[in-house]
Amino acid sequence: MSKMKNLSLLCILLFFLCLQSPLRAQKAGIGQQKEAAALLAQAKREMGRQDYAAANKSFRQMLALHTPLPTEMCYFFAGTLFNLGQYENSLQFLEKYRSLAGPGGEFYHQSEELKKQLEEQMHIIRECAACDSQGYVQQLCSYCRGMGKVEQNCTRCYGRKKAVCSGCKGEGVRIEEDLFGQKKYQSCPDCEATGIRKCTYCKGEGKVTSNCEYCKGLGQLSTDELCSHEASQGQP
Ligand SMILES: [Zn+2]
Ligand SMILES: [Zn+2]
Ligand SMILES: [Zn+2]
Ligand SMILES: [Zn+2]
Repeated sequence: MSKMKNLSLLCILLFFLCLQSPLRAQKAGIGQQKEAAALLAQAKREMGRQDYAAANKSFRQMLALHTPLPTEMCYFFAGTLFNLGQYENSLQFLEKYRSLAGPGGEFYHQSEELKKQLEEQMHIIRECAACDSQGYVQQLCSYCRGMGKVEQNCTRCYGRKKAVCSGCKGEGVRIEEDLFGQKKYQSCPDCEATGIRKCTYCKGEGKVTSNCEYCKGLGQLSTDELCSHEASQGQP
């Protein structure tokens, strides 16, 4: 799942790089631009028959050409991503379209509509308790059983609750020298001369509690499955 997300992020990054690199634009061959135009036409046909997975592939092939792309591509790609449930990516391309095309753009009016729908969907996701911020179903972290925290043996005393007294280094006796260099022996007050003290790290509990490393303390892990948000429907 995260691989897929990273991949889409990478594509977006590459795409914005192409938009902003005039040097690349000069170098780009006319052949590639023709290919991009053909891919856009193909993606529009695929969108026409609601094959958004295929359209997504065509758009990503366009991005991989590293050639300047027509502005409207952003609008259509945003529409495809919206239908695939990739709302955050969709919003990025939609905003790119709106800033590049401006209010005079051919699809500006439609982009306003799509933006509304996107915001609605993103609102539902925020309100839905069953999915993460990307709209993927979350499940309880099995490692911490949804607690977000795990208890483990203290890493200092290894669960023994006790530690060697630091005041007397475990000797039970403190040796001090008086002003005349004479040694004075004194039973250690810290450990009552036992040489052993309560572990200060775990406060004598033997256990320490820390955030679960799998779910980063959230208690939940995201899955690959897109959420239907049904669990939260019917609630205000
Ligand atoms: Zn001591
Ligand atoms: Zn301890
Ligand atoms: Zn966990
Ligand atoms: Zn949901």
